[in-house]
Amino acid sequence: MNNPGKASELKKANRKKKKLAKKSKRSDTNKNNAKPQPQDKIELPTSPVNHTIPLHLRLSDLSHAGVKAFLNTVFRSSDIPQTLDQCLKNVRKLLYPPELADALAGAEIREKEVRSITLVIRDMEGVAYTTGNQLDDAHKEIHLSANYILSSGEPPTPDDAIKHAKDEVIGVIVHEMVHTVQHDGKGTAPGGFIEGAADWVRALACGPAAHWDIYAIGKK
Ligand SMILES: [Zn+2]
Repeated sequence: MNNPGKASELKKANRKKKKLAKKSKRSDTNKNNAKPQPQDKIELPTSPVNHTIPLHLRLSDLSHAGVKAFLNTVFRSSDIPQTLDQCLKNVRKLLYPPELADALAGAEIREKEVRSITLVIRDMEGVAYTTGNQLDDAHKEIHLSANYILSSGEPPTPDDAIKHAKDEVIGVIVHEMVHTVQHDGKGTAPGGFIEGAADWVRALACGPAAHWDIYAIGKK
């Protein structure tokens, strides 16, 4: 026997069921597309050297003979971007070898966070130093003496002048680039260890500097 009241109740219940099913489907879809919330765990990169560090160059001032030598004699200005880029790649590969990425990740060793490196060539005493930007230490500056660039071309023979200057300037830049990306035990590592690591990378990337004693000993 037909029971119109019950039938309409059943229809109503089915409609409700369908509505609920649709709703739950929508919320699953939303879940899948949901943006990570701040409390979500951020996945660390699998390789410690897979991010880009922008490089900048600041010359001050352009009339300085050392700056002119940097642009026109020691390097050709068109070669400078590629040269600096290659220096940084070599430094990062030697300090954080990609083939050891898994072992480094396992030991929770990550490349130091550096957002940019600016090479500043200017009239100053000494050879070079590395520092953090005043506002943000993750933006590094390498200050290189324009006067030193001039004097680094004092060659064993005049024919060697440009090569000698180029090797020395690249060696100093590589050494300083190490300081931008190396860890220092939050300021606790001994200075000799820090400098030794920078020279070790320089020696592997560019060969030892001509004025190093160890080079003279090695040549004998
Ligand atoms: Zn140093």
